[in-house]
Amino acid sequence: MKNLVLGGIILFVLTGCTTTQKGTTAGTLGGAALGGIIGHQSGHGGQGAAIGGAVGALGGYIIGDKMKNKFCPVGGEVYDEEVKFCPTHGVELKYKEE
Ligand SMILES: [Zn+2]
Repeated sequence: MKNLVLGGIILFVLTGCTTTQKGTTAGTLGGAALGGIIGHQSGHGGQGAAIGGAVGALGGYIIGDKMKNKFCPVGGEVYDEEVKFCPTHGVELKYKEE
């Protein structure tokens, strides 16, 4: 069970490529580690890691989503920090004003 969870996390790390996915992955790993510690102390390591992973994924998703702070002035689509030009409209992306 523990190996299965770990395998899933590794697969997720290898397949994730967008900033949101990276943030989610980081959150999942952090959450799983934290959950593992909590679970270990309460005698349910696997269960704790699974719960921690779910909580971490949610937190990481929010962090990852916040990294999408640029938008296309033509279509309004949002992009990651590292994208400079809109792949659809070919215009320079602008920073969101918050
Ligand atoms: Zn665009």
